[in-house]
Amino acid sequence: MSLKITKMKNCSYCQDSGHTINNCMDPSIDLLLQEFHEYMAFDLKCKFKYKCIRYICSLLSLSELRIIGYHYNLNMSKMSREDFTSEIIDESSRERTMYDEIISKMNLSELEYFYTKIANNSKEWNSRKYSLTDIKKRVGIELSDNDSFVKPQLEPNNENTYSHDDDYMMPLLFARLPEEDDNDNTLESIFKFIYICIFGITAFNVYMS
Ligand SMILES: [Zn+2]
Repeated sequence: MSLKITKMKNCSYCQDSGHTINNCMDPSIDLLLQEFHEYMAFDLKCKFKYKCIRYICSLLSLSELRIIGYHYNLNMSKMSREDFTSEIIDESSRERTMYDEIISKMNLSELEYFYTKIANNSKEWNSRKYSLTDIKKRVGIELSDNDSFVKPQLEPNNENTYSHDDDYMMPLLFARLPEEDDNDNTLESIFKFIYICIFGITAFNVYMS
């Protein structure tokens, strides 16, 4: 009885019983792989020499790393985490066309998301922090293209992707309100003053007649 329990399959990735990690079909795997591919695409495009993707892999749990390994038919077995990461990077970096497509299909807010993320975490894997401009240059957006790049960013997004614009649109909206209130108050005072004058003159005329 106890033997049966110990032999029961248990997935170290999704914790479900009935299968092991190499047969896991958890829906979050697609997202995990997608994010891995996206960072790999930027690493290759920006020629970071796998420093960025290696850092991203270091943030993953061991079971997440193993899941990515299984996608490339790689088994960690007795390898160190470092060696296993190198194997994954080596194997995954071969699909160059796919990585070019990943970046070319991204919309502006997706690109902005990765520029910001990579610029922010660059100090963790590079001797100096990359600025947003550095990243854009490396991806291939020249400074002269900045105008056409910035402009569409201010337009509402077609998709439900998160935009930093939302963060400052609301305070801006509210910041204008007191100004308008002040104007209203001034106008109101002028009308009151005119009203009192007219009332005063009429009352005076009535009194005099
Ligand atoms: Zn599973």
